[in-house]
Amino acid sequence: MQSNSTENLLSAFAHFFPNAKEVGSYINGEMVVGAGETVQLFDPATGEKSVAYPDGGAEVVAQASAAAMRAQKEWWALTHAARGRVMFAIANEIRKEIEPLARLESIAAGKPIRDCRGEVAKVAEQFEYYGGWADKFYGDVIPVPTTHLNYTRREPMGTVLQITPWNAPMNTCGWQVAPAIAMGNAVLLKPSELTPFTSLVVGLLIERAGAPKGLVSVLSGYGHTVAQAAIANQAIKKVVFVGSPATGVRIAEAAAKRVLPCVLELGGKSANIVFEDADKRLAALGAQAAIFAACGQSCVAGSRLLVQKSIYDEFVQLVANGANKIKVGAPLDDSTEVGPINNKTQYDHVMKMIDSGVQAGAKLAAGSAERSDKGYFVRPTVLSNVTNDMDVARTEIFGPVVVAIPFGTEEEAIEIANDSEFGLAGAVWTKDVARAHRVAGQINAGTFWINGYKSINVASPFGGYGRSGYGRSSGVEALYEYTQTKSIWVETAKEPATPFGYF
Ligand code: NAD
Repeated sequence: MQSNSTENLLSAFAHFFPNAKEVGSYINGEMVVGAGETVQLFDPATGEKSVAYPDGGAEVVAQASAAAMRAQKEWWALTHAARGRVMFAIANEIRKEIEPLARLESIAAGKPIRDCRGEVAKVAEQFEYYGGWADKFYGDVIPVPTTHLNYTRREPMGTVLQITPWNAPMNTCGWQVAPAIAMGNAVLLKPSELTPFTSLVVGLLIERAGAPKGLVSVLSGYGHTVAQAAIANQAIKKVVFVGSPATGVRIAEAAAKRVLPCVLELGGKSANIVFEDADKRLAALGAQAAIFAACGQSCVAGSRLLVQKSIYDEFVQLVANGANKIKVGAPLDDSTEVGPINNKTQYDHVMKMIDSGVQAGAKLAAGSAERSDKGYFVRPTVLSNVTNDMDVARTEIFGPVVVAIPFGTEEEAIEIANDSEFGLAGAVWTKDVARAHRVAGQINAGTFWINGYKSINVASPFGGYGRSGYGRSSGVEALYEYTQTKSIWVETAKEPATPFGYF
């Protein structure tokens, strides 16, 4: 007999794929079921066994890459404006399905339903934003000092591979698929084996909106099988990876063998710096949102809270009081603010990190080191008395756990913030405008907030410094990543100079 978890997930999925007998890969308008080893999923809210499906293996990669090469030619042959119109139609298709998509994401990933609704709406915005760019990003005319007309064209890479994690499956696919297809590419999207569902639906909706069949294929299965087979496939011309640094290294190594360019969007250990002159109420609310939103499973989470010594005890207590009030609960409950951790491996890691912090001398100002009886729930946790050399301050926890580290001066705050291998994000809270900008200019991070945290928009570039990765996503910068430049020279002289004179 099927468990409730399995039934819930399958019925939410059947809303989109009523005829699918099994979860497979979405290729060329069809659900193609793999024949590889079984991927067994578990319900994050109960820990019960949920859906199982076969890994797609190299076979789905071969089918998807052949379809992508055909579809990309058809897609690129359209006018730029026509591609833009399809992008707007995709946004409409997504908007029509906000509630069923949010429900599917919530059940599959364990995320609170109210967060999922917002995330789905954002994906529609991402397609609109890049739909607007489809006919506005082309090339230049270069004033070369010869008799030539020299111009550039921004051309698609061809077929790009996108490998994404489990923490924000819907958002990640809008974030990356939209700019890729807006620029004329086909996409092979390999979502996490733990959360393929909403990505498969996005593949379906893209086609429903009028994109050629096979333009975006969604491949279900493991990274070491499906993603690695795709990196080796000759159709792939670029790899965009969102995930952990350890996997990022493996992917960059495999891509280097084929001289494939990569974008790596990796992890973080971001510093959220609070000075004694900050608005303490707003800073405390900001500190909670920075770490507890999405149950801390967010690459930009403000997981190191740096607090000036003069307000350390008072401020940490404020954050801890707020943490204790957060409603942790079932993902589908509308009042839930923080849901479970997505999977058991991650849950075990988070609990191990809390233990390691306590053993190293940190104090549990909020939260608990007790494991939950059912599901992968972790109470919002604040560890105080932490120093930046402890493992909890250096390793990405990727859960609702913030470590509070005291500092004395501005210089010391900057030094501690930058004493990390990561460089994804950070923030400063202060009423001193000059100091805010001074600090912002000195922190090694791709995104930085002043008196705020976590504002992110599709129009603004995003990416990491250091071990948080390289390349940029979002905004106009993503368009450079998804195109290559061709320089074209046209001779305009009646009697051109001899070619030997050119160099
Ligand atoms: P992960 O690295 O384990 O997996 C990410 C993807 O890589 C999955 O699709 C997985 O199947 C695939 N993969 C795994 N092993 C592979 C291999 N050997 N070859 C090819 N592909 C392989 O990451 P995760 O646990 O799913 O996600 C959490 C991580 O993602 C955290 O470190 C988080 O910070 C990071 N993340 C970063 C960003 C960002 O924008 N910087 C955004 C979201 C998440």
